[in-house]
Amino acid sequence: MKKNDMTEVTIEDIGVNGEGIGKVNGYTLFIKDAVIGDRVRVKVIKAKKNYGYGKLMEIVEPSEFRVPAVCPVAKQCGGCQIQELAYDKQLEFKEQKVLGNLERIGGLDREFLEEIREPIMGMENPFRYRNKALFPIGKDKDGHAIAGFYAGRTHSIVDNRDCLLGVRENRLILDCLLGFIDEFGVSVYDEEAHAGLIRHVLIRSGFHTGEIMVCLVVNGGGIPHEEVLVERLIKVGGIESVTVSVNRDKGNVVMGKDVRVLYGRDYITDYIGDVKYRISPLSFYQVNPVQTKALYEQALEYAGLNGDEVVWDLYCGIGTISLFLAQKAKMVYGVEIVPEAIADARKNAEINGIGNVEFFVGKAEVVLPEMFEERQIKADVIVVDPPRKGCDEAVLRTMVEMGAGRIVYVSCDSATLGRDLKYLRGMGYEVERVRAVDMFGMTVHVETVVLMSKVK
Ligand code: SAH
Repeated sequence: MKKNDMTEVTIEDIGVNGEGIGKVNGYTLFIKDAVIGDRVRVKVIKAKKNYGYGKLMEIVEPSEFRVPAVCPVAKQCGGCQIQELAYDKQLEFKEQKVLGNLERIGGLDREFLEEIREPIMGMENPFRYRNKALFPIGKDKDGHAIAGFYAGRTHSIVDNRDCLLGVRENRLILDCLLGFIDEFGVSVYDEEAHAGLIRHVLIRSGFHTGEIMVCLVVNGGGIPHEEVLVERLIKVGGIESVTVSVNRDKGNVVMGKDVRVLYGRDYITDYIGDVKYRISPLSFYQVNPVQTKALYEQALEYAGLNGDEVVWDLYCGIGTISLFLAQKAKMVYGVEIVPEAIADARKNAEINGIGNVEFFVGKAEVVLPEMFEERQIKADVIVVDPPRKGCDEAVLRTMVEMGAGRIVYVSCDSATLGRDLKYLRGMGYEVERVRAVDMFGMTVHVETVVLMSKVK
């Protein structure tokens, strides 16, 4: 195969990024937007020795798993990679991806995995599940303000005020903000020139409380006529917090270092189960509250607490899992690197009247060894929920040294999960239970929760 060749191919597999995979005489082609089971005509756009990339030109025969995209910009926008794949098939793909990584990277036996795994937890409604949306702000050709999403891998903005994964209020808030920008001639940020004021808007909503937060990220000081903007925004209803975060830096980090309140509080609240959480613009908070509850309940069940245990919750964010665990444990220690998140975590413990928790700010790989060596704090159960890159080896080593009976690993990347399980399996732990949870329908991302126990 070479560049610009045209060919027909049947899609037999799904790649890690949701693309279709097919073979022509042993040559592998990766084709974006092609669905497993499709017969497609493609144009080769990049050809390597053993594999290449094809552009979908025509669907010759659609797959039985192909469904129409619900969103009009599904193809341009980088957000949903598999909207045209039937939801049941999405779940199957995700579960297989997890099991595949645990087998290949984690070294687990396939048959054993199939035996212990619990069925993937899917969503009742795989749309409108996100409580958080972050929109870059720009201008169109005619100079009107737009908001939306970066077109896959680029920084050009696809205009879309109503992402179907987000809440309906996003649109009302964006209409209000963009109208304001046009009316008062407020400048928007131009990445290349590193000039202009409004960069992003972050919107978060509490699904249980109905409280909404709007945080504007700006490259500079005050927003001209900001009082008018606030007056209009609060008419949307439910808005409890309007803030500004200043970010004058170049680069991909979105939020500034602190926030200034324009209206209301600098946080909103929400519930997961019976626990009330306070959420600030700069803190991590799970984006899918419905599935988060299911995930935490699963993690809690895996932790198998009876009230006597000392539990560590590493990478604890605002203490979401910690406070869930504290209801059933003797003592819970949480560790998190973002100081604002720990401030929220402490506040969250207080507003829920939970006294058997203590939170530490710092890197898990530093705090855990220190607390173990200096304060000899033990661990019966350790829960970890690291970012995609997984756990630092110092964390894993200390977990083993602490001799925890059970380790509950919550992961958003099954490849690094596999790597870390392999390490722990080599140090006297074995996997007992595995469950994938779909927190991000229409995307290729999948959450996994694993229970490991110390082998007697
Ligand atoms: N368990 C929480 C947050 C999970 S997200 C929840 O369910 O809401 C992962 C968290 O790890 C983020 O809050 C991030 O700030 C934090 N983090 C990233 N690297 C870290 C490190 N080296 N040590 C401790 N926390 C870290």
